[in-house]
Amino acid sequence: ATIDAARAPFHAHTWEAAPLLAGDVNAHTPKTMHNPALPADVVGTVATATLEDVNTALDAAKPWDIPAQERGVILNKAADLYEENFGLLFALLAREAGKTQLDAVAELREAVDFLRYYGTHAPATPPAGNFTCISPWNFPLAIFSGQVSAALAAGNAVLAKPAEQTPLIAHQAVALLHKAGVPRSALQLLPGAGDIGAALTSDPRVDGVAFTGSTETAMKIRSAMADNLTPGAPLIAETGGLNAMIVDSTALPEQAVTAIVESAFQSAGQRCSALRCLYVQEDIADGLLEMLTGAMKELHTGDPWNLAADSGPVIDAQAQSGIATHIAQAQAEGRVLFELPAPQTGTFIAPTLIRVTGIADLEREIFGPVLHVATFKSHELDAVVEAINATGYGLTFGLQTRIDDRVQSISDRIEAGNIYVNRNQIGAIVGSQPFGGEGLSGTGPKAGGPHYLARFAKPEAQP
Ligand code: ADP
Repeated sequence: ATIDAARAPFHAHTWEAAPLLAGDVNAHTPKTMHNPALPADVVGTVATATLEDVNTALDAAKPWDIPAQERGVILNKAADLYEENFGLLFALLAREAGKTQLDAVAELREAVDFLRYYGTHAPATPPAGNFTCISPWNFPLAIFSGQVSAALAAGNAVLAKPAEQTPLIAHQAVALLHKAGVPRSALQLLPGAGDIGAALTSDPRVDGVAFTGSTETAMKIRSAMADNLTPGAPLIAETGGLNAMIVDSTALPEQAVTAIVESAFQSAGQRCSALRCLYVQEDIADGLLEMLTGAMKELHTGDPWNLAADSGPVIDAQAQSGIATHIAQAQAEGRVLFELPAPQTGTFIAPTLIRVTGIADLEREIFGPVLHVATFKSHELDAVVEAINATGYGLTFGLQTRIDDRVQSISDRIEAGNIYVNRNQIGAIVGSQPFGGEGLSGTGPKAGGPHYLARFAKPEAQP
């Protein structure tokens, strides 16, 4: 009863139109957002931006011209407001983005950490000017707030375009940032789809772009910027991955299984850091896979509002059908090793294991709770490392071994931004363990690290 009561106040809420500049709201196309776990649950309605709004917003944008230290105080105040509004943000993360309670808490903490870290390190260098921030739906609060607060800390005017799947969370975050004291001319929200993103990255009034999303979109943005923006305008891009983990025959089996389950299936596999291809040394493979399927049987897939849910829905019907097609193809080829039941309503995909010969079999990143498994013989270890590097991506990598020299020699050779040894392949710590990839996975510098803020400064002022 308490859980239903907690859900009730957020039912069918109509959110104010996008907070562009005061006065020019309400004329926009409303969009109704549904809960991916419970399609009948209307989370709210949000106004979406038009191309004309992009024009108005760019005319109205004004860099945040107050001393860096005062910007920092306001961003820290916004962090306080996020914490005070925990319940509302938490409900939105569960209902609009399908986050389990564990994921929602972790995401809120990360968002608050970003606000405090960038706020506290707000640089006094001149701002780039107008900064476009384009964010994905998988961390609709943390990545959104991280990009926006870094750009604001550096004194820019921000034009934020959240993913079309999660505008309500972004809307709420912006409302709290405004309430903390960020002027409307320094932070405008333009909810919409890719066309709004394209307009915001090809207008000469834009001086820099922060983007997190797919590698393909990052490439489109790079060429739009090259054609239209001032040369040297910064593009900070964090993109996809094809992440692997190697488990050799000396690994502790229980530890490896726990790490695999969390790395592959937490957040329903919808993390760019998630484990996609597991390499198990052949002589322990049967035993380890038996333990792994045993652990997977314990996972409950369902409405993330329910405390017992380990795995929530994938973000929408389009994502669900793409993943289901991938599984069906593997099924037809007799390569599905293990599959669990999933609820029939809502956009659920249950955790699934698929056999592959190696990471090269993965044509693209499957952004869901699907783990591909390959085996290798002792003498094939170097070839496995080469195959992992050959994907061209380089975001996360996991290693489970108890051979000391191997930790060093493999870590030295693997081209990945974040390497995790004998633990789950998840997460970063704002300030001390920043996150970001190499190659096709991003341009760097890492988010939450010491060099990130410098990229939001005027290009001439950058080191
Ligand atoms: P994902 O696969 O995570 O949805 P996308 O790259 O498609 O990744 O989307 C990430 C963000 O980029 C979203 O906010 C989306 O609307 C935006 N986007 C999509 N196409 C473009 C584009 N051509 N230019 C700028 N932004 C875009």
